[in-house]
Amino acid sequence: MDSMVYDVAIVGLGPAGSTLARMLNKDVKVIAFDKKNDRDDSFKKPCGGLLAPDAQKNFAMFGMTLPKDILVDPQIFSVKTIDLKTGILRHYQRPYVNMDRHRFDLWLKSLIPENVEVHDSVTCSSVVKAGNVYEITVTENKVKNIYRAKYIVGADGANSLVRRSLFPNHKIDTYTSVQQWFHDRHSRPFYACIFDEELTDCYAWGLSKNEYFIFGGAYPVRNSRERFEKMKEKLRDYGFILDNPVKTEACMVLSPSSPRQLCPGDGHCMMIGEAAGFISPSSLEGLSYAFESAYKLSRLFNERK
Ligand SMILES: Cc1cc2nc3c(=O)[nH]c(=O)nc-3n(C[C@H](O)[C@H](O)[C@H](O)COP(=O)(O)OP(=O)(O)OC[C@H]3O[C@@H](n4cnc5c(N)ncnc54)[C@H](O)[C@@H]3O)c2cc1C
Repeated sequence: MDSMVYDVAIVGLGPAGSTLARMLNKDVKVIAFDKKNDRDDSFKKPCGGLLAPDAQKNFAMFGMTLPKDILVDPQIFSVKTIDLKTGILRHYQRPYVNMDRHRFDLWLKSLIPENVEVHDSVTCSSVVKAGNVYEITVTENKVKNIYRAKYIVGADGANSLVRRSLFPNHKIDTYTSVQQWFHDRHSRPFYACIFDEELTDCYAWGLSKNEYFIFGGAYPVRNSRERFEKMKEKLRDYGFILDNPVKTEACMVLSPSSPRQLCPGDGHCMMIGEAAGFISPSSLEGLSYAFESAYKLSRLFNERK
C-alpha cells in the first residue's frame, strides 16, 4: 500500500481523462490510470475515429492543432445516408476529420504534463470509499497495488468501473456496438450511415480508413450479433463489399434516453466523458462531450479556493 494520498485520481485516459490530466493546474497532485499502451496487443477503443464539427470546435477553443500522422485517407465532407425501409439514398454535407483513433488517443496521452503520475498498461479492478478517501486497486505487472485519493474522476468509458462501483443502481440505456474491419475493395472510398428499423432503432455505419473499410452498427443488446450479420446481408444489394473480415470488435455504447440518465457524480466523485453518459444518443458521437466535460471539470478544480 502506497501511503501517499493524491488530490485527484483519474481512472481512464481516453479523450476525456487525458484532456482533464492535461488541463489541471500543476499544484493539484494527480495520479492517472489507463489500460492502453503503444504495443500492437494494446487495448484499442472500438470507434469510427471521426472528429465531428463540435469536437473540432473544442480543439479550436483549446488552441490545438492535429499532427498529420493521426490523419487517415480519405478526409470526409459528405455522408451517404441509406434508409433500407424505403430504399431512399441521399448525401448530406458534414465536415469530419478522419483519424486513426488509437494513434489519436496515444497522442492525447503524450500531451499530459510530467507532474501527473501516469500508470499505463494497468487495470483498475476496484474503487471503494474508505472514510475521506477513495481506494483504487490497480493491477500492474501482475501485482495488485492500492492507491488513495481525496477526489476520484471516472473517465473510464461506457462500461465505467467507477460508475458501477460508486453508483451501482444507476442505469443508462445501452446498445451493443459491433464493428468489423475489411480490406477496402470498393471502387471509391466513402462514409455511409444506414438506417433499418427492422434491425435497430439506432443506426449502422460504413467508413473507409486507409486501406480498410470499417463496417459497424449499434444494436439492441439481445441478438446484436445476428442483427449485425443480417444488416451485412441486406447491404450487399447496395454495393457494400463485406467479405472476409480481418478484425471484429464489440463493446457497449451508451445512449441516454433522458437527462436523468446522466451520471455526473456526487460529492468527491466526478464523472466525465462517456462514463457519465455524455454522448449523443442519436449519432453516438462522443468526442466533443469528452473534451467539453473534461474542460469544465478542470475549471472547477483550478478555480477552487
Ligand atoms: C463503435 C463506436 C464508434 C464510435 N465512433 C465515434 C466517432 O466516430 N466519433 C465520435 O465523436 N464518437 C464516436 N464514438 C463514441 C466515442 O468513442 C466515445 O464517446 C469516446 O471514446 C468517449 O471518450 P472517453 O474518454 O469518455 O472514454 P473512452 O474513450 O472509452 O476512454 C476510456 C479509457 O479508460 C480506460 N479504462 C477503462 N476501464 C479501465 C480500467 N478498469 N482500468 C484502467 N483503464 C481503464 C481505457 O483504456 C480507455 O482508454 C464511437 C463509439 C463506438 C462504440
